[in-house]
Amino acid sequence: MTFEEQTAAALDPLAQVPDEVLWDVVTRDGACMSVYTDGQAPDFTGDVLSDRELAARICAGCLVRNECLESEFRLVGGASLGVWGALNVEDRQAVYAVWLVRRLGGDQG
Ligand code: SF4
Repeated sequence: MTFEEQTAAALDPLAQVPDEVLWDVVTRDGACMSVYTDGQAPDFTGDVLSDRELAARICAGCLVRNECLESEFRLVGGASLGVWGALNVEDRQAVYAVWLVRRLGGDQG
């Protein structure tokens, strides 16, 4: 199983969770939320390499990475800038393509 397939499959248990519940969990428990409330927002640039480094640093200990990624896929289909679910935009778009096939009833393997 590829990284993209593994990451998309890990989101399957969240498929029936309502949008607002997911968002509440992310905004309550997301590791980056304390960064924002401390007044020092992460400097997401949209640059692939630096965002990947920031994702590794900020999201490493986050307990709601799957919920964060699921929310972003539902809201904007992996297209927002910066880091969500510990992935930069380039990695998210690759996982989103696999996630979408699974949600449309495709590969469930
Ligand atoms: S996965 Fe990263 S971007 Fe998402 S809530 Fe956690 S720390 Fe924030």
